[in-house]
Amino acid sequence: MNQKLTTSFSNGISVQIKREDLIHPFVSGNKFRKLKYNLLQAKADNQQTLLTFGGAFSNHIAAVAFAGKERGFKTIGIIRGEEVAHKVSDNPTLLFAQNCGMQLEFISREEYRLKSEVSFIDNLKQKFGNFYLIPEGGTNALAIKGCEEIITPEDTDFDYICCSIGTGGTISGLINSALPHQKVLGFPALKGDFLKEEILNFVQNENWELLTDYHFGGYGKINAELVLFINQFYAENQIPLDPIYTGKMVYGVIDLIHKNYFPAESKILMIHTGGIQGIQGMNMKLKNKQLPTIDTYV
Ligand SMILES: *Cc1c(COP(=O)(O)O)cnc(C)c1O
Repeated sequence: MNQKLTTSFSNGISVQIKREDLIHPFVSGNKFRKLKYNLLQAKADNQQTLLTFGGAFSNHIAAVAFAGKERGFKTIGIIRGEEVAHKVSDNPTLLFAQNCGMQLEFISREEYRLKSEVSFIDNLKQKFGNFYLIPEGGTNALAIKGCEEIITPEDTDFDYICCSIGTGGTISGLINSALPHQKVLGFPALKGDFLKEEILNFVQNENWELLTDYHFGGYGKINAELVLFINQFYAENQIPLDPIYTGKMVYGVIDLIHKNYFPAESKILMIHTGGIQGIQGMNMKLKNKQLPTIDTYV
């Protein structure tokens, strides 16, 4: 469903947001898209267990835990940071995953860096038996196939399609399904130049660009300005944004509109990729730092 913003803009620019955050109550937004064909493949392969990786507040971990329970898979989450093991009861994301039946395994940050290496995966197979592996953030070829379904024929009239980027899987799907007259703009939620290369592994079209000035200091980094922006956006539009991904992207799009980046009469579609489950955990951190909290959590 596309929703028009109540905020109005000059130059005849119009903005709508695709509410992918509403497609499932617990497997929200792009994580639903990314899991769809992976879960079908896991079933086709007769796998009983899904194993994946993520940080302590990962939307992907929460999504795999719930989707796995729903489809009758055992799930194992390899979580970054041994110190997190003692904090599960204070961590809404991990508590949710555990309550869905996910087995959580905590490893050091050094070990976590090895997670794509064959020997590391082999060790996991010895420890846990056979499993269907879903990479960190859920990005693989089947995930991108799922993300190609985000854009539908009702979106033909848009000139720009904007989305947040973590690993680059979602934007790759959007780029593959965008029409020749459409441009896809990606807003990385983290610092680093590696994303362009990642995306080039998955796409052929050249109708895309990365806007790299809206990461707010890096992955998971936020400040009072971003929190106040998210709260104001909710007050105006009744659309909750998450602080890690969609908040930064929407901030970026609106900033670019004010800076006249877009030609007059542009029709812009922003993809709401979900992530609302992360607000509760982020608010606990903000409180500790005596920063304003996000008041969109319902
Ligand atoms: C995971 C996530 C992203 C990043 O998607 P990638 O496919 O990894 O680029 C964006 N938005 C939200 C809300 C997410 O949870």
